[in-house]
Amino acid sequence: MIEHLETDVLVIGGGAAGMAAALSASRAGVRVTLLEREKKTGGVLNQCIHHGFGLQFYQQELTGPEFAFRLQSEMNEHSVKVISESYVRHINTKSKYVEVISPEGVFTIQAKAIVLSTGARERPFGALQIPGDRPAGIYVAGLAQRMVNLENTLPGRRALILGSGDIGLIMARRLTLEGMEVLGVVERLPYAGGLTRNVVQCLEDYDIPLYLSHTVVEVRGNKRLEKVLVSEVDENFTPISGTQKWFNVDTLILSAGLIPQVEDLGENLEIDAINRGFAVSNTCETNVPGIFAAGNNVAVFDLVDYVAAEGWIAGQNASKIVKDQKRESKRIPVIRGKNVGVLVPTYITPEEHLRIYIRLKKPMDKGTVIIKKLGIEKPFNYGVPSEMINFVVNRDKLQELKGPVKIEVIE
Ligand SMILES: Cc1cc2nc3c(=O)[nH]c(=O)nc-3n(C[C@H](O)[C@H](O)[C@H](O)COP(=O)(O)OP(=O)(O)OC[C@H]3O[C@@H](n4cnc5c(N)ncnc54)[C@H](O)[C@@H]3O)c2cc1C
Repeated sequence: MIEHLETDVLVIGGGAAGMAAALSASRAGVRVTLLEREKKTGGVLNQCIHHGFGLQFYQQELTGPEFAFRLQSEMNEHSVKVISESYVRHINTKSKYVEVISPEGVFTIQAKAIVLSTGARERPFGALQIPGDRPAGIYVAGLAQRMVNLENTLPGRRALILGSGDIGLIMARRLTLEGMEVLGVVERLPYAGGLTRNVVQCLEDYDIPLYLSHTVVEVRGNKRLEKVLVSEVDENFTPISGTQKWFNVDTLILSAGLIPQVEDLGENLEIDAINRGFAVSNTCETNVPGIFAAGNNVAVFDLVDYVAAEGWIAGQNASKIVKDQKRESKRIPVIRGKNVGVLVPTYITPEEHLRIYIRLKKPMDKGTVIIKKLGIEKPFNYGVPSEMINFVVNRDKLQELKGPVKIEVIE
């Protein structure tokens, strides 16, 4: 049984972000250990058997498992030590001393730098506070996806999907292909939450209705779900009387958003209140020196390519700490202006190029991203909250920066 280990860079979580971080740190010549709570690495990629991964990172369209396999193979070539079935229960952020639970018992690891890449979790049924019964047959979409794609089981026969995020859209198609009847996708916003390509390829191509500005207001069933009441809502999401309709279904799939997994990891780590993930700079460093974070635990990214690219930078910068190459550098706060929702990074450190990721607060036919302090104006045609706006600012432009930097989007 392992009792204590020492490593240079410790990566916690073996999804796309963690594997990319482990790989880049290892290529920089330091000892890397990756901890993963599941039996194998890959994270959410393992259950995403559809195409659409890696167009930027690998310049090739891959499935989720193919993308994961590539990263895992490259980690093997670069001697990353992977310890699976290991759940990190606590990090002493100051000393970088980590406690891990494994099937053989508890062990500890002393690291010089740490990358947190713990991903995101799904918003559960309890958080939605829908009145009615609490029968079996209500699943978060990721669990339903896991059942169908990895465990070869169907969650039911007739389903309704609540929430039009990408997982919900993809599951509407998946369940249909597997022989379930999907009566529709219900979304309380007046626009779809997922990527446009998924609305077309997963709903329109299969004649599955999308009920925009609608929500589920009641669930009924004795032991198993029997019916779900759906209502149209106004702009404040208040149900409009007279618009209610019952759907006879035995399955309700919830795709009501992902929440970065940041809880209980370590003390004193700053959280960005809007992203709900770790507040990092463009070096991917958190407020605690030597602790980095990347991927969906920083903000929920739309593409795995962004997640892997951020993981790569996190790993590189973690290895610099080990090799004593890191310069002391300032952290300049980034402030959200008009129409900016999720925004990465939370701070700017001039030593690294600035990669900006923005989710708009609402769809816009056209708009311009403005960063006055950097003299940047980036016009775009048609932007939606589900698709991040992403661009890079060269670090040469950042050297003279002083004081907070505001990023806004005007129509
Ligand atoms: C249904 C679905 C469809 C998608 N479709 C696409 C697509 O078509 N194209 C695209 O580019 N992107 C797509 N994405 C997005 C992309 O898959 C994700 O953004 C990306 O894989 C997230 O990677 P991650 O490493 O941040 O998180 P995860 O993959 O969630 O990895 C986190 C890992 O950390 C581990 N972990 C968590 N806590 C601990 C702990 N305490 N100790 C040890 N281990 C821990 C978890 O077990 C997990 O393996 C999709 C996502 C979903 C859910």
